[in-house]
Amino acid sequence: MKNIPVTQPFLPELDEFVPYLEKIWDNKWLTNNGPFHQQLEKELCEYLGVEHISLFNNATIALITALQALRINGEVITTPYSFVATSHSILWNGLKPVFVDIDPNTFNIDPKKIEAAITPNTTAIMPVHCYSSPCDVEAIQMIADNYGLRVIYDAAHAFGVNYKDRSILRYGDMSVLSFHATKVFNTFEGGAIICQDAKTKQRIDRLKNFGIADELTVTAPGINGKMSEINAAFGLVQLKHISTAIEQRKKIDSIYREELSTIKGITVPKASEYANSNYSYFPVLIEKEFRLTRDELYEELKNNSILSRKYFYPLISNMPMYRGIESASCENLPFANATSDKVLCLPIFVDLTEDELTLIINRIRG
Ligand SMILES: *Cc1c(COP(=O)(O)O)cnc(C)c1O
Repeated sequence: MKNIPVTQPFLPELDEFVPYLEKIWDNKWLTNNGPFHQQLEKELCEYLGVEHISLFNNATIALITALQALRINGEVITTPYSFVATSHSILWNGLKPVFVDIDPNTFNIDPKKIEAAITPNTTAIMPVHCYSSPCDVEAIQMIADNYGLRVIYDAAHAFGVNYKDRSILRYGDMSVLSFHATKVFNTFEGGAIICQDAKTKQRIDRLKNFGIADELTVTAPGINGKMSEINAAFGLVQLKHISTAIEQRKKIDSIYREELSTIKGITVPKASEYANSNYSYFPVLIEKEFRLTRDELYEELKNNSILSRKYFYPLISNMPMYRGIESASCENLPFANATSDKVLCLPIFVDLTEDELTLIINRIRG
């Protein structure tokens, strides 16, 4: 039997993409802020309800550039419960990540534990809106204001999320989106920085183009973070279908919720009261009362052609390049470690059929 993947990119009809390719072939503008790049920035601003967006070739380069753009130095407070790119971007800037535990109900950095991690060297906080669940943005901003810290959100999961009726991307100094193939909105590879003013966008746009200000002036050691016209064009096609795609994910999410919440030993995380979800992931926690351990369930599903993902396991703080840092100790991060040992992300993607969904649910029920 063919495997049911844990995720699958959403691809509109190929026919829809062809006219865009023809245009690129006609005008021969392949990259460097081409017409589709400009159009996608404009359309994303409208769709997301933000004012300034700068497209990137991927979110990792965008995170690295965001830290550089804000001239962050010293220590950056972050969460260990994320994809490695979050902490890697801190190391790539020669900075020290300082790990703070998560709130087990939201999967996000616990603001109540941030202050204790602040030292004279702390200059920024890099939280993650994990699985599109919103961080406590107000509490985080209050701490940042009190201590004069910058806030850069890794918003890789948070495409189209509004918090109290306003884009979650408008909180903090910057937010970074990922448009990787596995994300809700994809450009094959891609990402973006959302910032709050035009001057900052200009700085980011220079940094992603080698630091070039004009033909004769290079003002900073920038990188090549530009998105090509092919990726931008695909984004424009994808954007036309994004609302339908999110609706479809929502249906899957509700069926999972209804069916799984009655199974003994499975915790289905509560949806946020303050924000809409984009249904990017469907994480469940496998508790002691369940008939199998998390790893056994993972194997059982796999043996039945259903792929799930231990996401996020292992924890970033337990990886070789991070575990030597004092804040990476398990005693400092009890909830992140416990969650990482219990979590399993189930298949959720636009083309998942009802039959497949029933199959997955029945398998879990056992
Ligand atoms: C996907 C992801 C990234 C990296 O995005 P890329 O576009 O693949 O570089 C960073 N942080 C989080 C939380 C992610 O899920």
